[in-house]
Amino acid sequence: MTGLRLEDGKNKSVSEILDVTIIGGSIAGLAVAFALTNAGHRVTVFEATDGKNKFERCGAFKLPPNGTLCLNRWGLKTLLDKYSHKFMKYTFYRCEDDALIGTLLLNGLLQHEAFSGQDVADYIFHESSDVWDWLYKLAVDSGVSFRPNSRVVSIDTAKSTITLHNGDEVVSDFIVGADGVNGIARSVVSGQTPDLGGNRFLTVTCTLPCDELLQDKDLATLVDDAYWVVWGGDGVQLQGQVGKRERTYIVTFGYKIPDDVVLDPSLEIFGWYDTFKLGDFKFIDYKKFHGRALKLVNLVKEASQTYSNIHVEQPVLEDLVCDDGRVVLVGDAAHGMIPGQQHNAALGFEDAGVLECLFSSVQSRHNISRLLMAYDEIRGPRIAFGVKIDLSLRDSIMLPKGPLRDQFDDFLRTSAKEHVPAQSDTDDDHLSRLWNDTLKMWLYDASEQVEDWWTKWGNLGTMRELLEHETRRTTIYIDRDISRQ
Ligand SMILES: Cc1cc2nc3c(=O)[nH]c(=O)nc-3n(C[C@H](O)[C@H](O)[C@H](O)COP(=O)(O)OP(=O)(O)OC[C@H]3O[C@@H](n4cnc5c(N)ncnc54)[C@H](O)[C@@H]3O)c2cc1C
Repeated sequence: MTGLRLEDGKNKSVSEILDVTIIGGSIAGLAVAFALTNAGHRVTVFEATDGKNKFERCGAFKLPPNGTLCLNRWGLKTLLDKYSHKFMKYTFYRCEDDALIGTLLLNGLLQHEAFSGQDVADYIFHESSDVWDWLYKLAVDSGVSFRPNSRVVSIDTAKSTITLHNGDEVVSDFIVGADGVNGIARSVVSGQTPDLGGNRFLTVTCTLPCDELLQDKDLATLVDDAYWVVWGGDGVQLQGQVGKRERTYIVTFGYKIPDDVVLDPSLEIFGWYDTFKLGDFKFIDYKKFHGRALKLVNLVKEASQTYSNIHVEQPVLEDLVCDDGRVVLVGDAAHGMIPGQQHNAALGFEDAGVLECLFSSVQSRHNISRLLMAYDEIRGPRIAFGVKIDLSLRDSIMLPKGPLRDQFDDFLRTSAKEHVPAQSDTDDDHLSRLWNDTLKMWLYDASEQVEDWWTKWGNLGTMRELLEHETRRTTIYIDRDISRQ
């Protein structure tokens, strides 16, 4: 396979080769497995399912520049250039009348002065199934041991041990929880089961043949490779993009479930189902859609294969590492966001990048807890920020009619007209802030973050550790409140 960098980046300079357990072999688990093997460690991934690619029929993800940069650094640029679309245009419509609000020239925006002199990658759109395959190959070729049909049923944080469904126990130096938002690791680290009392969202993804759209003169206008189309409305969002292979059109339907709807208790929250059709969700109000948005929704209704998920909004976690310092969360297990946002996958890639940099220079097992606390220091604020930005954008897209929504639409309209984000006179304008924060999200370099952390805290941490590690293995050397500001 072209474009894969396998052995060349492997770090041979670590003095201590660690054994790492990863729970979950999906996108984030595979990325971390590869990254830590690349850093010189022995990694085993335990995956509950048969370990086959489950993304075959279920859509794609957007990858903002910060996510693309991680994959480029792992040697996937050639493949991404070949098989992904660069988003050139982001076009936003309102659902109820199919009215155009504006088109942002997305990769054009990356020429913004905020990016000058930075290593900025493309904003791309990519089939999840390909990325899973590439990450799996990277991981396995670099020496990761992948154990399918291995459900983890418990974690002993003090002993850094997992127990599998068949009773086998596995001890390792530390454990990475990449088992998703409803996984065992998130509960162990947070000390809580998922909160099921928050806002509920239905996501349905579907892959349609482009030919189906081309048969309708209105929908045919959507079949444009560089085009990311989003319709927003009161509690709804609909996204569409052309897939790269076999001329497909990928649709993601998002719907806020009304508070008074009682769901079938047999539905597992956070699970992905291929057994439901859009029409099975009787609470959907189709009057919210009009024109091409409605036509597209009708195609999804008739599609033979859809993937559905019900997600309850989760609070941001206070800590990503458990108190014993040997279990760490990555990917969806760490951020817990609803599917279909900008940064679902990208945050997981950043997590992997930071772990790779931190563990590239581990000198002793005694350093593990401190390095994991460094991860918490670096990733905690970043993940909280990313979740805030994505939710803020989603809420603006899903606003009901009213002055707030008019403000958002005006901002987008002006930005589209001027080909740059609209300028605001006041510093506290929340839309300008949202844009500036989006730029901050797009600019993230894991290795720089780790370097900054070492510059700020490394020496202090090392000195204190030399003094204290023998007696207080899991001491937290850094005042966590300070760096979370
Ligand atoms: C089938 C599927 C379809 C998806 N479709 C979309 C989509 O269309 N749009 C979108 O935006 N997002 C989608 N997502 C979510 C999105 O892909 C995630 O953001 C991305 O996969 C990164 O997630 P992750 O690797 O952190 O966790 P996940 O992808 O949720 O993977 C968690 C992994 O952990 C494994 N696991 C869970 N518990 C255990 C355990 N106890 N022991 C061992 N293994 C365990 C699971 O089997 C799974 O492989 C989908 C996810 C899945 C699983």
